[in-house]
Amino acid sequence: MTLSARVPFVVPSFRLPRWVAGFLESRIGGRRLRSQEMRMELAIALARENGRRGSGGPFGAAVFERDTGRLVAVGVNVVVASGLSLAHAEMLALSFAQRARGHFDLGDPASPVHELVSSSEPCAMCFGAIPWSGVRRLVCGARARDAQAIGFDEGPKPARWVAALERRGIAVVRDVHRPEARAALRDYAGPLY
Ligand SMILES: [Zn+2]
Repeated sequence: MTLSARVPFVVPSFRLPRWVAGFLESRIGGRRLRSQEMRMELAIALARENGRRGSGGPFGAAVFERDTGRLVAVGVNVVVASGLSLAHAEMLALSFAQRARGHFDLGDPASPVHELVSSSEPCAMCFGAIPWSGVRRLVCGARARDAQAIGFDEGPKPARWVAALERRGIAVVRDVHRPEARAALRDYAGPLY
């Protein structure tokens, strides 16, 4: 067998679960989500729905134009379905936003300012991806310890990760609808937690 037959040359693209398109149409349509609370409600609803439908872990994320509230892209956790460990909600949302914009850098001066809204704080991988994505603001719902409490591992993230992002010009807002975000995690985990 040749090396090219054994070693993959193409990684499959991310694919959102089929229910997401209808979910977004019915929940948002053409509306702009003006407040960070409304944006977080969408991220949490995506997390809940993903867990409820069994399409992945209870994590949702979305990229918005920061100043207009226009939705650019969403992501949910599809690690198991895709067979890819990097298929976290944030990684999908950022990738799809970059695809939508046609550019790897969402911080390109010619484009609107972008923000990432995530139902939970980023894990070590997603934390690492955020500076390269070009988003200028990160909005988080549940704390990392809320996800850890139901058995998800957040990885070796720096203790001062918020300051590290802010030093790079990325504002971080935490605890937006945290009780609702935490409830989505706990409801997924079931009565043992
Ligand atoms: Zn992650």
